[in-house]
Amino acid sequence: MTKSNFTDYKLSKEIRRAIDMLNYKSPTKVQEKVLPVALENKDVLVKSQTGSGKTASFAIPVCELVNWNENKPQALILTPTRELAIQVKEDVFNIGRYKRIKVPALYGKSSFSQQEKELKQKTHVVVGTPGRTIDHIKEGSFVTDNIKYLIIDEADEMLSLGFIEQIEKIISHLPNERVTMLFSATMPEDISDLSKKYMKNPIEIEIEAKTLTVDKIEQFAYKIEETGKLNLLKDITIVENPDTCVIFCNTRQKVDMLCEKLSSLNYTCDKIHGSMEQDDRIKVMNNFRKGYFRYLIATDVAARGIDIENVTHVINYDVPVLRENYVHRIGRTGRGGKDGRAITFVMKSDERRMFEIYSYTGKDIELRKIPSKRLVHELKPKFEKKLSVKPEIKEDKGINLSKDIMKLHINAGKKTKMRPVDIVGTLCSIDGMSAEDIGVISILDISTYVEILNNKGEMVLKTLQTKNIKGRPRKVTKADI
Ligand code: AMP
Repeated sequence: MTKSNFTDYKLSKEIRRAIDMLNYKSPTKVQEKVLPVALENKDVLVKSQTGSGKTASFAIPVCELVNWNENKPQALILTPTRELAIQVKEDVFNIGRYKRIKVPALYGKSSFSQQEKELKQKTHVVVGTPGRTIDHIKEGSFVTDNIKYLIIDEADEMLSLGFIEQIEKIISHLPNERVTMLFSATMPEDISDLSKKYMKNPIEIEIEAKTLTVDKIEQFAYKIEETGKLNLLKDITIVENPDTCVIFCNTRQKVDMLCEKLSSLNYTCDKIHGSMEQDDRIKVMNNFRKGYFRYLIATDVAARGIDIENVTHVINYDVPVLRENYVHRIGRTGRGGKDGRAITFVMKSDERRMFEIYSYTGKDIELRKIPSKRLVHELKPKFEKKLSVKPEIKEDKGINLSKDIMKLHINAGKKTKMRPVDIVGTLCSIDGMSAEDIGVISILDISTYVEILNNKGEMVLKTLQTKNIKGRPRKVTKADI
């Protein structure tokens, strides 16, 4: 029997409240199947498409089951890419917000020492890419003795990126007594081998999908050679007039070139590829998510798992080299039950690859006639109108959660021996405040951040202007969330 309401599961009020605030009305299929099993601490092997709500299917039980009082990390979530690590961290953080779950993300090309500092504090759930996670284990900054939950997300991608040895090495540092959950869009043999080796009688869950791609995505293609692609792209964007569009290319150089060309034509666009600094990559993805620009030009670093609401179009400027990447790329649209359009530019030399893609996805990709000059001309004014209008700025997924939370900055930290009990003690001595109104506390060297929940931030901020913390007045100000 399946359940269709989150209230049917044994979830604490903190987790349920976060689910409500995220506006998740009822569990998705994968959540219906995974939640009851994972909440009973059983291993699960899950085959499910991206965009199915699978992150919450492991984030909800993990946030529910970790013990807040423990200081050392209890759960490790491994993801193949840095972008996905950041996204999963945000999802876990949002779900665990009212339980005050601390979730550092460990990934490369980003400050090691900053991550080290976060790991030194109370930490419940660690999200990491394999390489950086191993580095922290080796350095002793990530203590794994208390890990009770291991989640391997996008396992097929991990293996195709050659992370198997690193994953095995990480597992060798984890306690044997643990729950392991493995999520994958496809189940090639090496995944079953991995599961046999490291999982205990896993419950196998498969979310049925008729084809590998979401039915709501309309897929079509145009025959075109390299020299004609840019002009075709211009025409297609005029005819399709997308609200939000990801254009995939196979090389970084081409991404750079296309971004430059489209910018000079006044398209609101930006780019992402592997040669860019990680901080810039994060900034671009956040700006795209918020809707600051309409066209993201990307290599496959943006193809996997990345969840951006309302991407209406995906254009494959180049046919992907790996057929799996076709599925991942076009899966950036048609998410959450919405419609999407996936358009592929096919050169004569791509025909074999396209055939492999049809056979793999089980779905026809209709070959269409290039739009006529007349049609392009007719639709151009409408397109130019949209181009001149600033895109609508989208709200953050966790906006409801943030609305009644205020983050405060206190100018005292470890160097002045500030401890969480000092903060909690002071806050609870304020009239109308209880432990339930205190969110995540982060104590750094010379500053402390604390979240005040339930709309009590202003009141606390005012009181702390005159109230001592740890025997002395401290400067307390509002911090950015
Ligand atoms: P994922 O497959 O984890 O990338 O999730 C896809 C999208 O579905 C994300 O934007 C989630 O925030 C959203 N989502 C997850 N669970 C639910 C739910 N039960 N109801 C509505 N949206 C959900």
